[in-house]
Amino acid sequence: MAKEKIRILKDKCTLCKLCIKACPHDALSMVEGKISIDINKCTLCCSCLSVCKFQAIEINQKAGFSSIVKVDEARGVWVFAEQKKGIIQPVVFELLSKARELAFDCQSEVCCVLLGDKSIKSQAQVLIKKGADKVILVENEKLEDYQDDSYSNILEYLIRKYKPEIVLCGATSIGRSLMPRVAVRARTGLTADCTALAMDKKEKLLLQTRPAFGGNIMATIICPDHRPQMATVRHKVMKELLSEDNRHGQVIEEEIPDKLLKNRTILREVIEEVESTQNIAEADIIISGGRGLQKKENFKLIEDLAKTLNAAVGASRAAVDSDWISYSHQVGQTGRTVCPKIYFAIGISGQIQHLIGMQSSKIIIAINKDPHAPIFKSATYSIVADLFDIVPALTAEFKKVLNK
Ligand code: FAD
Repeated sequence: MAKEKIRILKDKCTLCKLCIKACPHDALSMVEGKISIDINKCTLCCSCLSVCKFQAIEINQKAGFSSIVKVDEARGVWVFAEQKKGIIQPVVFELLSKARELAFDCQSEVCCVLLGDKSIKSQAQVLIKKGADKVILVENEKLEDYQDDSYSNILEYLIRKYKPEIVLCGATSIGRSLMPRVAVRARTGLTADCTALAMDKKEKLLLQTRPAFGGNIMATIICPDHRPQMATVRHKVMKELLSEDNRHGQVIEEEIPDKLLKNRTILREVIEEVESTQNIAEADIIISGGRGLQKKENFKLIEDLAKTLNAAVGASRAAVDSDWISYSHQVGQTGRTVCPKIYFAIGISGQIQHLIGMQSSKIIIAINKDPHAPIFKSATYSIVADLFDIVPALTAEFKKVLNK
């Protein structure tokens, strides 16, 4: 089928329009009595192929799509400057320090992309002092809160315009929603949840390292043929630079077409969860409780220890499913991935789905009454004991030592 990536076989097509309805990218339409394909919108996702009952669509996956930025024209290391209520999120500063190293290695510059309402303007200088050479600022009241459609529209628009070599973003809830959308639109790859980044200077390739197969191996992933090279990076794996008051940089105030601000969803309200302890994504110490706590009221033992150590409260899915604590505290495959300095697993058996989310923690202290509990295989310190004895005793001892 020559070099065509997708085509409609006219002798088989009955014009039933099922493919038009199935296309999530609006790439198919009826034009002059025929099904027409907008090749700029099509991502070869095959949704049309699976609904066509007449085998009237042919897709040549091998032909692939080239990215919107060509390899030889890509320049610059970008960091998406995630903000909430006008405050830059800490992971951005961690990424900026790594971006500086990468930019040095590929002899280019560091650029932050900052989207938000008028409250963000002052943050551009904060980003420059923390390592950005340039900040692309898109200010609009409709960008006050993160929305999938408008944010990905704008990022795609900016990537088309400025053609970055690398785009980095925190592996936060926002980053995990935004970056895959942008990568698909830019027709490039994305490595999610990286724990290390480096530059292959000779090949100008970003070496993106992340745990794979449940953390049993570290995989280093490259994206040789498409640009930008995109990665989301976990919290607290990179060290933030000190702010330099005498750093100067350029702020580009970008005007964007109104149509990019459209969203298919309406954001009614943002409800902040009231946290009595720290957020697990940012905490240096996490105290997590599991089913071994037996009932909701007993979670107070975990909270007391967490408060004493100025730590965050985590939980296994069993504890969350039992409604003892809210989902935002869940650690694991379907919860958050965390890597604090110290992780306490209390009354948690250590199933693989939990381990995936916490096994990169520097020190793991496990408390379990079952000496054969799998958690002990991952633990730095194993305490075989009844949690109802040991946890209150630990809290009391820490209070004494810390004068609390
Ligand atoms: P259990 O496995 O029941 O373990 C309780 C532990 O407490 C036991 O080891 C027991 O010895 C100990 N214990 C009991 N009493 C005491 C006591 N008095 N003192 C000390 N120790 C005591 N799980 C997650 O955590 N996070 C996820 O994101 C996640 N995602 C999942 C996704 C999928 C697709 C699936 C299938 C499962 C997922 N799970 C996840 C569930 C996971 O498989 C386990 O069921 C869950 O982690 C078990 O939680 P637990 O360790 O608290 O409970």
